[in-house]
Amino acid sequence: MSQPLWGIDLGGTKIEGVILPGPDRAEPMVRTRIPSESGKGYKHILNQISRLVNMMKDESGLIPEKIGFGTPGVTDPVLQTMKNCNSTALNGQPLKADLEELLGVEVVLENDANCFALAETNWGVVKEKMPNAKMVFGIIMGTGTGAGIVYNGHTWLGKQGIGGEWGHNYLDESGGACYCGKTGCVETVISGPGTERFYTSLSGKKLKLDEIYTLYKNGNDAAAIKTIERLCYFFGKAVSVVVNILDPDVIVVGGGVGNIKELYSLGRASLENYVFNNRLDTPILAPSLGDSAGVFGAAALVAPVDTNALNR
Ligand SMILES: [Zn+2]
Repeated sequence: MSQPLWGIDLGGTKIEGVILPGPDRAEPMVRTRIPSESGKGYKHILNQISRLVNMMKDESGLIPEKIGFGTPGVTDPVLQTMKNCNSTALNGQPLKADLEELLGVEVVLENDANCFALAETNWGVVKEKMPNAKMVFGIIMGTGTGAGIVYNGHTWLGKQGIGGEWGHNYLDESGGACYCGKTGCVETVISGPGTERFYTSLSGKKLKLDEIYTLYKNGNDAAAIKTIERLCYFFGKAVSVVVNILDPDVIVVGGGVGNIKELYSLGRASLENYVFNNRLDTPILAPSLGDSAGVFGAAALVAPVDTNALNR
């Protein structure tokens, strides 16, 4: 019998934990969450994680051997400290070592976009529709823009741990300054806030993306139409860079911005224009696990290595 898989998704507002019965079944034995209260600092986040793990132990009667964590940002492979986290309390901290000392178990840490890509590959839309996909590119477009690469069933971290960090590729000057210190990043142009800023620049009104999208669908707000068309145009342009380099078997688009259906029609048409090929065979799919992808993917980090997957 396989060991249960313990996963924890460390978010900016909540910390969510799950115990799955094993790699074949994504039906939680335990699923629970508490607020991360990340504004109270690093030590407080650690205490909250410890509290959550104790709750999971009590509820399941189980003791973990290993725990997978989905984190904002990544662990620097050389320094072994966190970097690129938008929950900035974590940056520079030796999170892996601190968690292992605090919890007394081995932990595996990976970026939340990697977890998303891994969960959709193992249990979500990729498994349903493209079970033989060797390379999966999983995009999260929401408040930020990130992505994870899964190759032969494993996440691809890269030499510096930044494999898949497509959100901070250069896209267009109109995005303006990014928190990362550069300008015109993919994230500044096609994230939710980036798209909302563009709408405000046209209309003078501050609206949320779902409100802008409703106006777009109603068809009589010129600024909303221009905003969604711009989003789709730049989505295609940004993704073309990935397709030209990785040529993935499938692309999955998650996050709040991913709910905009035109990304799959107008966005896809734009991608087709910019990719270095005379056609586009790459499926672009909507995820099927919803909010569960992050925490399921964290649990997938501690699943036993499927050696068959390596030889596919
Ligand atoms: Zn950036």
